[in-house]
Formats: sequence, C-alpha cells, structure tokens
Amino acid sequence: MTKSQSLDIPIQYLKGIGPKKAKVFSKLGLKTIEDLLYYFPRTYQDRTQIKPIFNIKTGEKETICGIVLRHLKSAFPRKRIKINKVIIGDGTGVVSLLFFNQPSIEESLPVERKIIAYGMIRKYRQEYQMSNFEYEIFDKEEDFIHNKRIVPIYHLMARLPSNWQRVIRKTIKSVCDLYLDRIKETLPKYILKKYSLLDIIETLQNIHFPKNWTIYKEAKKRLIFEEFFYLQLALGYIRHRIKKEEFGIKYSINGDMLTSLYKIFPFPLTNAQIKSIEEISQDMQSSFPMCRLIHGDVGSGKTVVAIIAFLIAAYNKYQVAFMVPTEILAEQHYLNIKKLLADRNIRIALLTSSKKGKIRKEILQNLAIGKIDIIIGTHSLIQKDVVYNKLGLCIIDEQHRFGVMQRLTLQKKSQSEKKPDILVMSATPIPRTLALTLYGDLDISTISELPPNRKEIMNFCRSEKDLPNIYDFIKKEIQEGRQAYIVYPLVDESKEINLKSATKMVEKLQKEVFKNCHLGLLHGKMKVSEKDEIMTKFKNKKIDILISTTVIEVGIDVPNATIMIIEHAERFGLSQLHQLRGRIGRGEYKSYCIFIANPQMAKAVNSSSFIKEEYDENLIDTIKRLRTIVSTCDGFKIAEADFEIRGPGEFFGEKQHGLPKLKLSNFIRDVEWLKTSRKEVDEIFKDDPLLKKDKNQELFNNFKNNYLPYLEKDLLLE
Ligand code: ADP
Ligand code: MG
Repeated sequence: MTKSQSLDIPIQYLKGIGPKKAKVFSKLGLKTIEDLLYYFPRTYQDRTQIKPIFNIKTGEKETICGIVLRHLKSAFPRKRIKINKVIIGDGTGVVSLLFFNQPSIEESLPVERKIIAYGMIRKYRQEYQMSNFEYEIFDKEEDFIHNKRIVPIYHLMARLPSNWQRVIRKTIKSVCDLYLDRIKETLPKYILKKYSLLDIIETLQNIHFPKNWTIYKEAKKRLIFEEFFYLQLALGYIRHRIKKEEFGIKYSINGDMLTSLYKIFPFPLTNAQIKSIEEISQDMQSSFPMCRLIHGDVGSGKTVVAIIAFLIAAYNKYQVAFMVPTEILAEQHYLNIKKLLADRNIRIALLTSSKKGKIRKEILQNLAIGKIDIIIGTHSLIQKDVVYNKLGLCIIDEQHRFGVMQRLTLQKKSQSEKKPDILVMSATPIPRTLALTLYGDLDISTISELPPNRKEIMNFCRSEKDLPNIYDFIKKEIQEGRQAYIVYPLVDESKEINLKSATKMVEKLQKEVFKNCHLGLLHGKMKVSEKDEIMTKFKNKKIDILISTTVIEVGIDVPNATIMIIEHAERFGLSQLHQLRGRIGRGEYKSYCIFIANPQMAKAVNSSSFIKEEYDENLIDTIKRLRTIVSTCDGFKIAEADFEIRGPGEFFGEKQHGLPKLKLSNFIRDVEWLKTSRKEVDEIFKDDPLLKKDKNQELFNNFKNNYLPYLEKDLLLE
C-alpha cells in the first residue's frame, strides 16, 4: 500500500495514548499516525440497527443492546469446560451470552452494566443464546463511535482484553478526525477521474468508518486499484529500466545459424519451440537486454529452447550461467548437454554446493578467466565469490523455485556495463493474466504444444488394497522392457506419522514383491555422487524400479519409464503431483500414473458425488485435488484448479514473489482491476519508460518509497 510519508508522527502524540498503550500498539506494528490510518479493519458490524430482543430471529446475526441481569454458572466436567452464562435484557426480552472458560467475566461484566452484543442467535430450549459473538460495554448513549453505525472490527493480538477493540477504534477515529485532512493524495488526479475513484481522504474515512455500504465498496475499490497499480508500476519499472536504460548485448545471429543449430537434436522441433526460439533470437539481437519467460507444460521441451539460446551466446563469445533448483537436475542437464555438444568446441562446467575445496577453486578460476563457456549449477552460481569473465546470458530453470531477487542477483554478476540477457523457464504454467502479474517484469513466450508422438498418460486413483494388483502390473510392464517409479513422501520411517518411507519400502519390496527385479533408491539426503550413480543406472536400464522421494520432481528425463506410483498422494500439492507425473509419458510408450490414497479417499475421488457434508475443508480440498489430477494432464488446467483451491497467496508464495503483500486485493476476485491497472501502467511507461517526466515525479517517489525497499534498492538504483 502506498503511503504519503507526511504523517510520520509517533502515536504518543495522541491524547490518551501513554507509553503503556503505545507499547501495545507497537506490538501490532503500529507506531505512527500513518500506520493507524493504514491499519484496515478485519471486518465490520452493521450496528445501524439495534434490534429489540423481541424482534430477533434465530439463525440471524443480530445486534442487541441491554443490561446484565444476572450470572449463571454451569460446567461440562468431563470436558473440563466451564460455562458462564450472562443474561442480558432490554425490557423486551432476554438473551444468554455464553462465555467458555472465562471465570473473571463476572467481574468485568457486573450486573447492571449496559452492553452491546453482535452475533448469531441460537435457540436452545426456549432460550435465546449467543455463543459466538462480539460484545462491548456501552457507556454513553451518545457514543457514536462504537454504535449506531457500521462499526469497524480490527485485528488484535490474542489475549488483549476485549476493551481493546474499543481503544483502537477510538484512537483511529480521533486520528481520522484530526489528521486525515493532512494526508497527501497517492494517486494522480487524472487516474482518480478516469476510473471515478474516491480521493484518499474519503477512502480512508470510509474504510474505517463507512457512512454506508455503497461508499464502503467505493473505498475498497480504490484501495484495490491502488495496490495493483503500484505493484504493476514496480514490476513495469524493473522491466523498463533493465530494458531501456542499460545497454544490452547485441548478439549476431547469421542466416542459417538457427537452422543449423536445430540439427543438433535427433528430432524436429515443434512449432511452439521454434516460435519461442525466434522470439528469443530477436531479443538477443536487439540492443536491449532480454528479460523473457518461457513457460510451458512439463515435458514441452523447454530445455531444447534454452540450449539454442546458450549456443547463440557461446558462439558470440559470451559466458552462460544456467541456474537450476536442485543438484540432481544440474547434474542431469550437465551430462545431457555435454553429450549433445560433445563434438563442438564448447567448454561446459558444473558448479554445485558439493563441489568443494580445490575442485571448486579451479572451477571458479576458470570461470573468472573465461576458460568456461557454459556453467550449470544451483544457487551456487550466485554466491559472492563467483566471478564471471564475460557473462552474457543467464538462464534460470524452474523459476517458481527462485524469486525476483535471485534473478537480479545473477544478472548483476556481469562485470561489464552491458547487461546480460535473462531467460527464465517455468514449468508451472499459469493463467495469462496472472503471468502478467507475477512475471510483470518479463516478456512471455508460451510453448503451447507437446512434442508429437507422446502417448497419453492413463491416470488412476486407487487405495492400498489394490497394491498387489498394481505390483503385478508393474512386473508385466518391466517384462516388456519398461521401467517404473514409486514415490513416497518421506525418506525415513517416522514414528509419529504412519507413512511408508522410501528407505524402508525399498527393502520390503525387493524382498517380498519384486524379487527378480532391480530396485534402486533415490532421495535428497543422499550424497550427490550416490544420486548420480543411481540416476545413471536408471537411465541405462540397470535399475527397473526407482523408489524415491520427491527429488525426482523436477526435470528428470528417462523416456523409457512409463509407470509411476505415488503413495500417500493426498500428502502432495496439486502442482507437485503434476510435476512428479511429468517424469513419465516422455517417450513413445503408453504411460500409467497411479495415485494411492486411503480407501475412503479413493472412493470419494472416483465417485462423482461422494462428498459428505461433514467432511472438513481440508478433506474436501484433497478430494478436489486428486479428482483434478486424475481427470486431466493439461498443466494449464491444473494450475488454474490449484490456484482456485489454494488461493493466490499460497500459490505464489510471498517469498518467491519478492514483492510486498497485498492487503485488500485478491488476484482472482479482482482480476478485472488487475487487468485495468496493468493497462494503465503500460500506457504510463509507453509515454515515459523511466518515469523521468515531471508529471510522473510523484508516482515515482511513491513507489520508490514503498516498493523499492522490498526490491533491495541497490540492485536497481545504484
Ligand atoms: P521440460 O523441461 O519442458 O519439462 P524437456 O526439455 O525436459 O521438457 O523435454 C522433455 C523430453 O522431450 C526430453 O526427453 C526431450 O529430449 C524431448 N523433446 C524435446 N523436444 C522434442 C521434440 N521437438 N520432439 C521430440 N522430443 C522432444
Ligand atoms: Mg525442464
């Protein structure tokens, strides 16, 4: 949220706020007047209508006002719950408020105290009750802050006495009354006019103390617009700054260079691959640095595109850094690429955290003096002591594992004033509008088709009871020459949770089920050399069944493996399941993915209607997840479902996003505003790419003060 910087006044300046209260406020993160103005209510209560008790309805949320008539105590000794009943009456009827385990309530709500309560009315044996409610002591009839209006309810810390709701409300009310007119507008006037938005004063006034619901909605609309607007502005700024101001490398790509590069591969490239490559080569030939995201489903062949890009760079005598999230993947890319480029004069190296001491030193030295053309590695590539000789292209695979910051850090590794090109690859396809937001600082290429001749994957959800049959099926496929994965969520057996673990199962399966097959174990805790050995054996068909944890989630590519069993499938997230499944269906053979869940779950997944009302939300989400994964292999559909089930916060993960949290807006619900703000921001940048014009000075300052701290200023504005 944008702030005006003009009300940086400590809270203690307010009447009635001494050091004690100030301390509580500061625990809520509220130190200045401005903080208070931007501390938005968690919800509201409509107290415009206080109902006489004889008029209240069961099952409705009502506001009532009355005095405490008497206290009653009861208890469920078995459950150790003590209940205090506080009977309140208003002359037209009585209602019991139920307090659980709050013995001191008798003191804080003595008889004759007037209170106001808001909550759901229940009827129990002729008695009206509220068990889930908010209440406040009502002292003065003319008390218009807390009553006879739509009242804001603020988020408080647990254990704060309930009168704090009143304290904070009163404080914010007085801040609104005394200081609001000093606040500076945070959006340009023409934008307010264009979208008929409330000005900031009216907005804040009505977000805290709405005059009515209509104007409240207007206030919220403006704040949502503002959040998206500045988010887009920040991303757009990064994009344009990198693009327009810093000079990029102008790679030369002569006539048939691309077509000759295509010939490296043993298959013709798909149209989608060629289209992406053309977009990339245009970027690379231009004098602005490339910032491009390629996204495409698992198995769509993104690596091929990346290889062409780095060959262009290498032939232009620039170094390439290829950053991937796991060591196994780095290793695999390294081996594949080395093989592919064996007879070309290109020096490739691998740098991971397991390269230590002398070996590491040597790699770093060679990198620094330009004896390495392409370096493939994990996070190690962005460590402080890694120095490049002439870094020209950064490729980041599986972007969802890295954030904006890591991307910029890698790019900063270039010594020259020419900015290296950036190519980001994401295996989590995301709906386009969201891509624009999450990757608002990147141009986007989509690989929208899979290579031909892919056999579809058949999906099943089964329970443990079916395992013997499934094992027989695996044996049959192995006899046909195929290979299989069996995935478990854990490495070692854990006592608390009864999950089968990879280590234990590999022994058991070898002894009891697959006596004549070769089994291998792969998990993240193994040494890299051990992992390599296993992967190589699996690739060379020395292992028939690979028992593993989710380490195989990313990138592993063994086309002959056609079966995947995922045990405890309910423990995995949707996109994780999709990534895992992406390991099969990569070759010419028909593939099978079998998700194992408990019998009840499997039954629910396979029936179209079986969702019982009493199931809790988590269970329902799990059923939805498994139904989705079984019903489609389309990564875009899965991403959308995932997004819907988990919500945007978790889908992106704030950390990965690298940008501040949005307080009020919601990527799905408010998607129209998201698009609108993006369009507006695009227009601003079209006219003034670096926000240097006078008319945009305020915008620039606003966003610089509020967003750049998150983006580590020095990476952008040195
Ligand atoms: P991604 O990284 O997008 O998940 P990969 O680049 O690992 O996919 O490619 C998956 C598999 O498809 C690899 O075995 C690769 O060799 C193969 N492949 C890529 N492009 C093609 C193509 N055009 N035709 C046939 N196979 C391809
Ligand atoms: Mg890949």
